[in-house]
This record gives sequence, structure tokens and C-alpha cells, in this order.
Amino acid sequence: MKFDNVIIGSGLAALWCAKFLNDAAKSTLIITKNQVWDCNSFYAQGGVTLALDEKDVPIHIQDTLKAGSYHNKKEIVEILSKASLKLKEELLNYGFKFDPGVTKEGAHSIRRVFHAGGDATGRELHKFIFRKDKSYLLDEAVVFDILMEKSVAYGVSIYHKGKKYNIYGDNIIIASGGIGALYKYDTNARTISGDLQGLAVEKGIKLKDMEMTQFHPTVFIETRFSQKLLLTEALRGEGAYIIDETGRRFLFDYDERGELASRDIVSRAIFLHQQKGHKVFLDVSMFDEEYFKKRFPTIYQKLKDYDINVPYEPIPISPAFHYMMGGIEVDENSKIPGFENLYAIGEVAYTGVHGANRLASNSLLECFVFAKRASAEIIKRNFKTKDKIFSIISEELFKNDDKHYKNLLREQMWKNVGIVRDERGLKEALSFIEDTIPKLGRLAKLRFLTAREIVKAAINRKNSLGAHYRKDENA
Ligand SMILES: Cc1cc2nc3c(=O)[nH]c(=O)nc-3n(C[C@H](O)[C@H](O)[C@H](O)COP(=O)(O)OP(=O)(O)OC[C@H]3O[C@@H](n4cnc5c(N)ncnc54)[C@H](O)[C@@H]3O)c2cc1C
Repeated sequence: MKFDNVIIGSGLAALWCAKFLNDAAKSTLIITKNQVWDCNSFYAQGGVTLALDEKDVPIHIQDTLKAGSYHNKKEIVEILSKASLKLKEELLNYGFKFDPGVTKEGAHSIRRVFHAGGDATGRELHKFIFRKDKSYLLDEAVVFDILMEKSVAYGVSIYHKGKKYNIYGDNIIIASGGIGALYKYDTNARTISGDLQGLAVEKGIKLKDMEMTQFHPTVFIETRFSQKLLLTEALRGEGAYIIDETGRRFLFDYDERGELASRDIVSRAIFLHQQKGHKVFLDVSMFDEEYFKKRFPTIYQKLKDYDINVPYEPIPISPAFHYMMGGIEVDENSKIPGFENLYAIGEVAYTGVHGANRLASNSLLECFVFAKRASAEIIKRNFKTKDKIFSIISEELFKNDDKHYKNLLREQMWKNVGIVRDERGLKEALSFIEDTIPKLGRLAKLRFLTAREIVKAAINRKNSLGAHYRKDENA
């Protein structure tokens, strides 16, 4: 089977890239691990950041750079923010309707986050764009290899309903998202496990800033599922407080912006307060129940299902792993340097936009902007691969103890590679990972290779920066 383009993943980055490729009459196959909606894009709550007008562009750029501790690539942030003006028009012309009014989230200096379906922005966007999608779709298919020779990618190997196959394409676009499943507590869809970042390690493709992992401060973790319930930052943007068991708004001890400081600061403050023995809650009692139900319908219903009497009862919260700022290094058109026809878009990519800490609701924007740029580059280059047949690697995909080791990895990453880090803990995680890799089936191995990159990068960055906090930095 050969297509013009093969896209790995079915999130918003994948769908938006496919839209432009299909508009240009290119045959495009989307391969996805589970069901098409089983991705982080579908669960995005808060919204999409879109600069309000030309005057807001420099302010949005400043907010993004400040949240990212100025570790961002400024020229790429400029591309992002300027393109957001056009994106607003494009989405409207495509027929998508945001809710009336815009909201504010932490570290934004003004209201510029556009949302839909109340707190279901990702679901609404994903459903809307997928309905119009003209790609071929292969679901329940896990990519476990990229078929490469020198600087050319010829296709991918997949595992589908108990069998292995190769699929070929003139361009391979990686849109496989982040790494949530590597952490014990995370907000991500269950399909998000860093497989392709592991493949990048194996193939000698450069990853960058892998130590920059974002923890969301307000997550309800007392659920039965591995995916924990995010409580969108828009709640704090619209007035919710963070309190401890005495009712005190302790965040001001850590930053004068209190609830509206950037995510790294709020997460760390909660974590450190918890370490002192306190319990932490999100207080939403200032909202009228009818308003809350309409503005945040998903959160309202899910918390009711867990017997929390919203908005009257404080909601117990903890930080949890949320977003990967680092990833596969790409150029400004999302092409992977050194490769003719290999691209990475969305959360899996490192564009340099987010720096050391992502500004809230900038990631959907990044998905849209750089997916479109990738499609334009692919169409312009019109690269064709020679017809070539590859054999499928014989390595066992699964081994009996994989699940056990994956759970141990989640514990290790949470304990030693989490919100607060030091050399001793990082080295403990590294030796666990290295000792375990030889015991694993291929798919589990890929996620361990990704974890190893995160740990190594965290060991190498000796000082704190943004989301990467080293408590031993002066030791
Ligand atoms: C709960 C939650 C709320 C969020 N809220 C917001 C928000 O309000 N605003 C914002 O800007 N951002 C938000 N984010 C972040 C944002 O949703 C993601 O960064 C973004 O959607 C990533 O999109 P993507 O297309 O890169 O990847 P995803 O949407 O995560 O899609 C990745 C796809 O790759 C597939 N895949 C992975 N591995 C393989 C494999 N080996 N083989 C085949 N397929 C594979 C997956 O199945 C999935 O389809 C939120 C994230 C979460 C988890």
C-alpha cells in the first residue's frame, strides 16, 4: 500500500495538516492507535489562543516568552502569533463557531482564549474538522517502526488486529502527540505514550528540551481511570481560588499573581504546600450553579458523577503531568532537519514556541499553525520516494512483564522526574530505565527510550528553568 502522505496520529495537528493536503488532491492516510477521537486534542477544555488584533500580537508574543522563561525561539513565537489572526478567519470561513466571548487563563495579560461547547473546545473542533476530513483512515493500528534509508523515510510498520504490515508513503508526518502515559498521574488520553519520540531516539532523529515537562496545577486525581480529570485553567481565569484545608489562599506566599501565575509556579507551590502536610482544593463556590453548569458542562457532570457537590464543595486537587514542551526538533516548516520527507507536527514536535513552560491554550494554536505550514512545505517540495520493499523487524512487540514494568516506570517518573528534581533521584530513575530496557517488548521499549531522554536531559540541565526545577541547583 502506498500513499502520497502517511500521517501518524489523528489529533488536531494531523487533521488540519490532512485538510490542506487533501485540498491539494494528495492521497493521505491517517493511521491512529485506537479510535480517531482517542487523543489529547479531543479532551482540550480551555480553548485556543488567538491574538485579538494586530495590536495584540506583540502582547501575546511577550506573554508567551515570559511564560516560557524566555527559553523560546522568538522568531517562531512571532510566526505563531501572527498566524493566529489568519487562523481565526480560516476557522470561521470553514464554518466553525466559537462560543461568544473570550476567556483568560494564567499568565495571559488579557482575555484572548476562544472556546467552544463551554469547556469542550477540543471535542467540538475535533468533531467538526473530522466530519469534513477526506483522508483514508486506519484505526486500531499502532506504528512501531519508521522505514528509513539514509535521509529518506519510505513508510511505517504497523501492528493491526494481531498482524504486522508495512505501509509506504512519499512523505511521513509524525503527529503522535505527547508522553502522558509515562507518568503515574496525568491528564492525557490513554493512547499518548511517547512511542514516536522513542523511535526518534532509535533512528538518530534529534529530540530537544525533553526535560521541559509541564505539570498542570489543578487536576482531580481521585478517579478510577489512568487519565485524570483536568480542571481547566479558565476556572481560575474566571475567578476560582486555590485554598488549603484552612481555607487560606496560600499561593500568594509563592507569587504575587496568586492563582494567575504561570503553570510551573502554581504547580510547584501546590506541590511544596502538600509536602508540608496540607491538603489543597479548588474553591469554585463564587460561581452560580446554573452559570457553572452552562460554562463548564463537562467538568460539572464529571464531578457530580464523583459525588462532588459543585460548585458548593471545594474540589480536592493535585498537580499532574499534562504537556511536553520538548520533542522532535523541526524547522519553521515542521520538517525534520537532515531528512527529505519526514515531518513532525503538534505536541510531538519541538518548534521552540513554548520555551521552558507553555502558555495556556497555545498548543492547539501551535497544532493548527505548524500543521498548515508542514502541508505547504510538502506540497511545494513534491518529494517522491522510489518504490522499495522493506522487511518487517522481527523483534517481539510485547512481552509478558511489560505492563508491570510500565507501571514501575510511571511511579519512577512521578517520584524522581516530576515537579521537583535532584541528581540523586534522576540517577535512580536512569538506572531503573537502563536495567529494564533489555527485558521489554518493542512497544514498551520505545516508551522507555523516551523516558531515558527526559531523564538524561534533566540530569544535564543542572539549574532550574521554567517547568524544570532542580532543588539541588546550588549543591
Ligand atoms: C485534558 C487536556 C486538556 C487540554 N486543554 C487544552 C486547551 O484548552 N488548549 C490548548 O491549547 N491545549 C490543551 N491541551 C493540550 C492539547 O490538547 C494537545 O497538546 C494537543 O491537542 C496535541 O495535539 P496533537 O494533534 O499533537 O496530538 P493528539 O491530539 O494527542 O493526538 C495524537 C495522536 O497520535 C496517536 N498515536 C500515538 N502513538 C501512536 C502510535 N504509536 N501509532 C499510531 N498512532 C499513535 C494517538 O492515538 C492520537 O490519535 C490539553 C490537553 C489535555 C490532555
